[in-house]
Amino acid sequence: MTMRVLSVVSEAYPLVKTGGLGDVAGALPAAVAPHDAQVTTLIPGYPAVMKALERREVVRPLADILGAPARLVSGTAAGLGLIVVDAPELFAREVGPYTNPAGNDWTDNWLRFAVLGRAAADLAEDPAQGFDLVHAHDWQAGMAAAYLRFDHAAVPCIFTIHNIAFPGWFPAEIFPALRLPARAFAMEGVEYYGGVSFLKAGLWSADAITTVSPTYAEEIRTKQYGMGFEGLIAVRAERVFGIVNGIDVEAWNPATDANLAAPYDARSLHQRRINKRGIETAFGLQESNGPLFCVVSRLTAQKGMDVLAAATDELVALGGRITLLGSGDAKLEAAFETAAARHPGKIGVKIGYDEVLSHRLQGGADAILIPSRFEPCGLTQMYGLRYGCVPVAARTGGLSDTIIDANEAALSAGVATGFLFDDVTPQSLMHTLARATALFGDRKAWRGLQEQGMKADFSWARSGQKYTELYRRFAKHDARPAPSKTAVRN
Ligand code: ADP
Repeated sequence: MTMRVLSVVSEAYPLVKTGGLGDVAGALPAAVAPHDAQVTTLIPGYPAVMKALERREVVRPLADILGAPARLVSGTAAGLGLIVVDAPELFAREVGPYTNPAGNDWTDNWLRFAVLGRAAADLAEDPAQGFDLVHAHDWQAGMAAAYLRFDHAAVPCIFTIHNIAFPGWFPAEIFPALRLPARAFAMEGVEYYGGVSFLKAGLWSADAITTVSPTYAEEIRTKQYGMGFEGLIAVRAERVFGIVNGIDVEAWNPATDANLAAPYDARSLHQRRINKRGIETAFGLQESNGPLFCVVSRLTAQKGMDVLAAATDELVALGGRITLLGSGDAKLEAAFETAAARHPGKIGVKIGYDEVLSHRLQGGADAILIPSRFEPCGLTQMYGLRYGCVPVAARTGGLSDTIIDANEAALSAGVATGFLFDDVTPQSLMHTLARATALFGDRKAWRGLQEQGMKADFSWARSGQKYTELYRRFAKHDARPAPSKTAVRN
């Protein structure tokens, strides 16, 4: 029997994306569809979403949700079956989904995402909608789980942590406006360090918790990675599961990628040279025999970008060059721009977000640098592997689950796909960059790494099946009425 899932999320590719969360939310519906799970995605009505929404139908003409004028509108966009929280006061804002034009969080983010959670619970609690399960993602959707729990709803909730570092914490003053029972403001509830954490709300309330790689599922039980939630994760350990993300193997296919000057596959890797020249031109780099490293990343401490910034002089001294595409902390942006000014022709930097350029870098650079301090799953290493752009990455989270380090044993067995290092320090990074540069000099060995990486299957097939198994295990199993006429079309 088809299972109906309401996926609650604050971004979904290609409509709105700031990172891996958007990629995953956009890919999940198609990943589970072959296993008889039908996903409807509940998403805020940002301008980009409202513009793309087709076949609109008002599901609920509500006066308000938590006091904010809102209605719920179903429709489709970019192949996704959606229900949109149409609340212009909260969501009809240009720029990013979370921040104002100055780059700061909107001060009413607590209300914006509490409304998302309340809308999710209202839909799930309406038998006419026929949902068997709610799947909520990250702190922005954490309140969905809390409302369902405190309403004693029959529909269960799975909560996925894409990044435990964002607690969605707000001061206690907001609590009354959430309209939860008073007892919810407690350790056994949504209270966290004297305020309210939407992430805690999700972790405490959900029937099951997943995170986006098996290694990260282990790591978040520890103080180093748990960001204060390790105690709660440990208590709930029997209900914590790690399912590695897949990637969109159609959008990310070097043989058909229209963004590339020269598409290629594992048998025509020489074509990458044309793409590399394109990058060199675009970034004003000199040609060289040394490796061309690229970075496609948020520029933050999580991504180890301060460590890379501290290692740029040595990297250039080794004969390497860097092309960097990213944006984030102003200090890090400035550090890379300064490094580029110090090393003209060797380091090229583009501050910003550019989907097309991100494909071009993967399709032409020799290696991608990912020195993350922690990485719940990480997608760029999988894109790199698929594109023959060898990942050089920290051994953490999803990076250690998806890359096989080129140590002697792996090289001689022909299974290596990249480079992993343990301590995110300039020394350790440099040591690994030296290893990578040396192996780059051995063309046959390097090609072996590329070919091996390109063989790996990172499609959603396996992960889609795992999510569906979990959905079935936790879904509501009692009989329910068939969806009424107002039900959402997919
Ligand atoms: P996170 O979600 O922590 O940022 P992931 O590796 O899981 O990291 O996902 C990042 C996604 O965002 C990838 O699809 C990556 O290609 C993309 N990305 C990151 N920075 C940029 C950028 N500056 N321009 C284009 N795409 C980017």
